[in-house]
Amino acid sequence: MPRWKAHEEAYLREHAGDGAREIADALGRTVPSVKTHASRLGVSLYRRWHCPRCGHWTFTPLSKWSGWCRKCSIDESADTAALKNKQIRREVAEERRRIREAEQRRQAIYSDTDRQKRKLRRLREGRNRNATKEGETQ
Ligand SMILES: [Zn+2]
Repeated sequence: MPRWKAHEEAYLREHAGDGAREIADALGRTVPSVKTHASRLGVSLYRRWHCPRCGHWTFTPLSKWSGWCRKCSIDESADTAALKNKQIRREVAEERRRIREAEQRRQAIYSDTDRQKRKLRRLREGRNRNATKEGETQ
């Protein structure tokens, strides 16, 4: 097994988070060789990922859909949910407004009908009163 060169060690340190398999493939070495040398250098090969959104390193694979860490993905879906919630609240308010308008329209018609009925009653009563008066005077 050839000795480790400085640039290989630099690559190992830089890409430690990619895991032993990836590093071994990149350097043309075996996985055990990479593991042994990493432990000799005190470098952890624990797999980790860099989130492009928040810039943090995470030990959980990035989301296949968002390409972000779990927290960023949850934040994003919370934002989307909040937006949907706002939209639904707007729709509920709009529906209530439409119902209120329809009720007001109906109430206006009821009120007008009552007004017209009273007017008609007054007119008929007035006519009857006049008719009675005429009867008395005759
Ligand atoms: Zn993130």
